[in-house]
Amino acid sequence: MYIKEELEKYKDKNIRLYLDMDGTIAHYELGNANNYDLKRPLLDRINKIKEINSLFPNITLYVLTICHEEKNILEKNEWLDKYLPEVIKDNRVIIIRNPKGNVTSAEKKRDYLNSLETTDTIILIDDDPRILNAIRKDNKNNVILYKDSILSD
Ligand SMILES: [Mg+2]
Repeated sequence: MYIKEELEKYKDKNIRLYLDMDGTIAHYELGNANNYDLKRPLLDRINKIKEINSLFPNITLYVLTICHEEKNILEKNEWLDKYLPEVIKDNRVIIIRNPKGNVTSAEKKRDYLNSLETTDTIILIDDDPRILNAIRKDNKNNVILYKDSILSD
């Protein structure tokens, strides 16, 4: 399992592992931000994350995801309760973004990660290169960035 080898490098650090949801642990459906309970879980990836969670006591799981409206927060929480309850409620960062607004998802995630005040090592796994690039260019907390393909091997 490739990600296991990769995370071995940081086994002496306290890690916050932030996971994107859409396209990373759930099937991404273009233009459908609603009915999250019906979204197909990517079970091979979810099972790897569960395995990592039990193998590495230094890693704490988080979710960092964007949605459009308040009801989506509830839907995403229900989905996580069902498929990845290992991410405890306090560690689910679900940020609302007005899809007609000026702020991009990339900016929202970058600003959130830059606002963290922690000595922990932060890792983000995300499928969207725009998000990874935005953070790479302005990376106050030296977040370690991985494309979602890290979860495949
Ligand atoms: Mg995504």
